[in-house]
Amino acid sequence: MIRKVFKRLVPIFVLVSGMETELLKKLVSIPSHFGEEDEISNFIGSLLEEYGLPVEYQEVEGFGSNIISKIKGKRITVVLNGHMDTVGLGSGWRRNPWGELDGDRFYGLGSADMKGGLAALIVAFIEASNLPRRKRPTVVFTAVVDEEGYSRGTWKLIEEGKLKDANLVLVAEPTNESLMLGARGRYVIKLKVRGKKAHAARPHDGINAIEELSRLLAIIPRIKTRKHSKLGSGSYCTLYVHGEADGLSVPEEAEAIVDRHVVIGEDWERVVRELKNAAERVKMRGDLEISRLPRPTPEMLPYIVRENNRFVSLLSRVYSLLWGRTPEITYGKSVGDFNYFGTYLGVPTIVFGPVGGNWHSADEWVSISSVKRVKETYLEFLRVLGSGKRLAELVEMKDYAPS
Ligand SMILES: [Zn+2]
Repeated sequence: MIRKVFKRLVPIFVLVSGMETELLKKLVSIPSHFGEEDEISNFIGSLLEEYGLPVEYQEVEGFGSNIISKIKGKRITVVLNGHMDTVGLGSGWRRNPWGELDGDRFYGLGSADMKGGLAALIVAFIEASNLPRRKRPTVVFTAVVDEEGYSRGTWKLIEEGKLKDANLVLVAEPTNESLMLGARGRYVIKLKVRGKKAHAARPHDGINAIEELSRLLAIIPRIKTRKHSKLGSGSYCTLYVHGEADGLSVPEEAEAIVDRHVVIGEDWERVVRELKNAAERVKMRGDLEISRLPRPTPEMLPYIVRENNRFVSLLSRVYSLLWGRTPEITYGKSVGDFNYFGTYLGVPTIVFGPVGGNWHSADEWVSISSVKRVKETYLEFLRVLGSGKRLAELVEMKDYAPS
């Protein structure tokens, strides 16, 4: 009996106290560098269990567990996704990296990327679980590991078929409350040059691998990449170079690692062709080997969701009705778990998350009021997806709202 009463009281507690903020504080206080997600994943799993929700712990070896929780509803299946891990602490922090509230800003490592969005999703999910089954869609909440590493968590969800019924994926990465409808993809390229060894006093007898590779790297930023109307252009950036001589010799080998962000229409064959052409243009000598740097999960490919997709229109409409402005449409310059949902899972993937700043750097922060708006927006969107009547109700509420 007491348990039953407690369960009924819980949602009221949620509504009156602004659980998002309390949850955000707790999530930021738990360190969760990728590879060390055990504690945060157990915390989130236990929290959902306390609310009577079914929890599956999907172990990702060496990274803790993904949390999967599913509530059944009508019509369609919506996946809510957030990552639990953060990057390293880095230097230069003037705020407490484990949580510090100042006005509307909550500072902390991972506050924006993406514990703010994750808190919003968790609370929206808990509140959606209290709706009658006929007034909500089927919702699969997923909190994943290793997003900042190799996306092992999200890949495992997809690979093991956990999301096979999904009609839509919503990711709460920080987007300043814009709807992000796609992102570039990425290849990490390894360039290896084999030259010819000779005495360093007679360099012309050899082929200097370092010098040859340098000539190629020097023109890489000028390679003409493809332009996409939504995603912008592809880009190159050299990340690492290494080569050394064996004593007083002409260096025989050199290698570089180069980042290549790609847009739709730029595949691996095209990238290889570009680099070979560039090598020819600078009359590079020696043998050039071009390969992809091995990774434990598949390549991250570019994707977009059409702006007139029905889910996009509906989410935009719900946001406008709630907050009195149309959300901006944006596209991601870089990669994330959303690339896997948008390509390998092949389901419309919308990224929508709170206002924040300084992610992956010192004094990262997220706006508390924005986290609340994001939570409200997700919850209302789920209600609208669950019941055709809810949108009309929202319009009516807006019409009667005092201006
Ligand atoms: Zn992130």
